[in-house]
Amino acid sequence: MSEQILSGVFEEIEKQEKSLVRLCQDLIRFPTINPPGNDYQAIVEYIGNRLKNRGFSIEYVRAYGAPGDSADYPRYNVIARYETGRHGPCVHFNSHIDVVETGDGWTKDPFAAELIDGKIYGRGACDMKGGLAASIIAAEALISSDIELKGAIEISGTADEESGGLGGVAYLAEKGYFSKDRVDHVIIPEPLNVDRVCLGHRGVWWAEIETHGRIAHGSMPFLGDCAVRHMGAVVAEFEDKLYPAMAARFTEMPVVPEGAKQSTLNINSIHGGQEEGSDGLPSPCVPDSCRMIIDRRFLVEEDLKEVKGEVTTILNGLKTSREGFKYEIRDMLEVIPSMTDINSPVVQETANAIKDVLGKDPDFICSPGTYDQKHIDRIGNLKDCIAYGPGILELAHQPDEYVEVDDMVNSAKVMAQAAYNLLMK
Ligand SMILES: [Zn+2]
Repeated sequence: MSEQILSGVFEEIEKQEKSLVRLCQDLIRFPTINPPGNDYQAIVEYIGNRLKNRGFSIEYVRAYGAPGDSADYPRYNVIARYETGRHGPCVHFNSHIDVVETGDGWTKDPFAAELIDGKIYGRGACDMKGGLAASIIAAEALISSDIELKGAIEISGTADEESGGLGGVAYLAEKGYFSKDRVDHVIIPEPLNVDRVCLGHRGVWWAEIETHGRIAHGSMPFLGDCAVRHMGAVVAEFEDKLYPAMAARFTEMPVVPEGAKQSTLNINSIHGGQEEGSDGLPSPCVPDSCRMIIDRRFLVEEDLKEVKGEVTTILNGLKTSREGFKYEIRDMLEVIPSMTDINSPVVQETANAIKDVLGKDPDFICSPGTYDQKHIDRIGNLKDCIAYGPGILELAHQPDEYVEVDDMVNSAKVMAQAAYNLLMK
């Protein structure tokens, strides 16, 4: 029945297609590459000025003192809030404004935002300026309709998601911008395909393991102790014990793609002994140190302490089984998994809207990597949060990244209907 009430809003979104394209192109043309965090101030002012003209009140929040914040690269965020003047909840659309580096392999200018055959090309087109543009058009269409909306709509553009979100959503959550007295439901328009609702993401543990040895002349390695061989033993134990143990575990989380339904461990790097890139001449030494960085992704059923314990048990086992084995381990990053209940309001209303707008049942998924939901969940203690937006997940961070205009239009309708139902309940 909300379909009938919303038919005018949907018509308006269709009428605004050109404006949506222009908005998305304008956003892409700010080369907000992070690191280092370019042009944040310019893009938040662009978003703020636009929404101010539509009746939103605008706040710019710089994350002073956050990692990366400096006079040259200030971490700016914008929070725009529209009050209907009638009592009700608040629906918040949160998008990150930063993009990753362009990398090689582009056949289009990554910051020209060319429109070709219904697709807008550019770095950040899908991840996630297309989603930001769609959420703005959705909110504007709702506000300009003659529906007597309740509550409030917020739109934020936030810094640094690609580098962990500390100068963006984490900072705002610390300052209370995602607290219960202010926000009730959050939709993050990340590119997870237009017909899928993303409930959350797996956890992350990054750590550096170092094995120690003893330096000696390379012609008499028996007089030293090779740290690289010790690290080889660590890798062998991972192959024999850790990988099979992880492969035997299954999750209730609907993580995509299929391979990410299990715990995973990526060995990010190993380095021991002589520095690479020196003058090319070998130096005959036994390496006394070897470092390995591991990237362990874990499931909602796993406990971070146990995840770490599994690795330290292997390392401590080597200490007893292997002569001279010494190690250190340093934590680099921890993210706890987040998964919103499938029966929660934001999930159900977004799913209903997908059914109505696209005429198909949505898939419920979880993301293999993390995004800003972790901060909204853990710091803001706000559980009614999902990711939903236009764009194909696999295109994120790729050369010739694009977003389809039709997907933006459809997702704007879905976001408008979801917001309407959440506000009017
Ligand atoms: Zn993203």
